[in-house]
Amino acid sequence: MYAVRVLAGFALAVQAPAAQAAAGKAIKAEAAAGVEAQAKPLQVMIDQVFSYAEPGFQEVRTSAYLADILEKNGFTVTRGVAGIPTAFTATWGSGGPLIALGSDIDGLLGVSQTPGVATLAPLTPGAPGHGEGHNSGMPMIIAAAIAVKAVMEKHHLPGRLMLWPGVAEELLGTKAFYVRAGLFKGVDACIFAHVNTAFGTGYGDLGMNAMVSVEYTFHGKTAHAAAMPWEGRSALDAVEMMDLAWNFRREHLPVSQRSHDVIGNGGGQPNVVPALASNWYYFRDKDFAAVRTLYDTGNEIAGAAAKATGTTVTRQLLGYAAPNFGNKPLAEAAYANIRAVGMPQWSAADQAFARSIQTANGFRLQPLATTVAPLSTPETRGGASIGASDDIGDVMWTVPTITIGYPSNVPNIIFHHATAAMAMATPIAHKGAVVGAKAVAMTVLDMMTTPQLVADAKRYFTDVQQKADHYDPVLAPDDRPAIHRNETLMADLRPAMEKRYYDPARYPTYLEQLGVAYPGPTPAGK
Ligand SMILES: [Zn+2]
Repeated sequence: MYAVRVLAGFALAVQAPAAQAAAGKAIKAEAAAGVEAQAKPLQVMIDQVFSYAEPGFQEVRTSAYLADILEKNGFTVTRGVAGIPTAFTATWGSGGPLIALGSDIDGLLGVSQTPGVATLAPLTPGAPGHGEGHNSGMPMIIAAAIAVKAVMEKHHLPGRLMLWPGVAEELLGTKAFYVRAGLFKGVDACIFAHVNTAFGTGYGDLGMNAMVSVEYTFHGKTAHAAAMPWEGRSALDAVEMMDLAWNFRREHLPVSQRSHDVIGNGGGQPNVVPALASNWYYFRDKDFAAVRTLYDTGNEIAGAAAKATGTTVTRQLLGYAAPNFGNKPLAEAAYANIRAVGMPQWSAADQAFARSIQTANGFRLQPLATTVAPLSTPETRGGASIGASDDIGDVMWTVPTITIGYPSNVPNIIFHHATAAMAMATPIAHKGAVVGAKAVAMTVLDMMTTPQLVADAKRYFTDVQQKADHYDPVLAPDDRPAIHRNETLMADLRPAMEKRYYDPARYPTYLEQLGVAYPGPTPAGK
């Protein structure tokens, strides 16, 4: 691996004019210093978005807050893109390549957590929380973009930036719609960032499943369930029938598939035969064709369940994710920068808090990493599947893209759980985002100043990635983003959550506002 990297670096140095390569090093150092100088505003942004904790499609405060910051910093903001109220683009620059930079912004239902506390302690009981750390991604990207913009202005470098937030990623709800709406038309390359416990990147088939999110609604007929049940047709029976049939069919599906559902509506009260019931399925498999087949099978079984129960069925596609495929030249360029930046300087308090989370929740003890992760390649992964999905895949099959993982969370926590929120408004999250922003800024400058890198990225996209598969989402023309999701829930919860929003005018950090001591007491083990 080391040899491969050295050779790749050598090839770039030979192809780029020597003067430009030298300038590259100096301007990258300037950009890194520009990020370092923003450590304070970056901490404020991370804490602010953590306190908003808005779930998919309801990122109203988050989106407005981030878009306003970009606007104040000279970016041109277009709100409500792709028919999604909380989506936006923020563009700046002229000429040169157009580089897109994105990260997700949505929280998760039911995982509210007080930051800096190592035991389960909801900030607002029953509310959403940042139980994956999506509060840190766009702040990190914004810090990187502001640093890059300053360097480009100073040195009169041509090039354009387009920042975009991943709305409703946890619902796999938007990126396929972004692509369909043409958001990435004219984009030369994209850097996406996601919170991690490690600092690294990778290329090739990243082992993430393609996914279809679909809700089946069965329509029956109400009747008195005891006095005249023969008049009724139960939509709930159809939901149960579908689940039963799907689980029998599961034995005969490819072993690579994963599928799961929740019953969103199971009827009203037992003595009324339910006229309306629905179940919401996630279907996952490794590639475009396999997930399409799985979706077809789901639709068939839903139709059969309707037939068996004398009901009818309609479906709504709620989300889609393409498999993830990282661009090799971009990953190698980013990885060289990740190595150059290195890990944050963790304090004894940071390590103590990480250990507290692991101890209090019965997780395996493992300190915060002090070295960057190896470059993730098809060889190092050995074809392993992660099981989960990420709709950045849709962007990855549209323009050359990589995901950079930055070290803002604690090893061995459970994602989509409150333990993954505990560190996300503490110095661990803040420091991880600073190194992440430096690597992103430096890689963007590589792309702005090295036309060969962008050309190589495009060649890999065309000659390697497109030979492996091609973009084939299941979206039908009348499928629309599910922007209604979580609306009523947030209308109920927002008044209680608002009382806990971070006020940076009064408190330097969110922990101070909440009166949380860091790293706090050492908890008893589980
Ligand atoms: Zn995520």
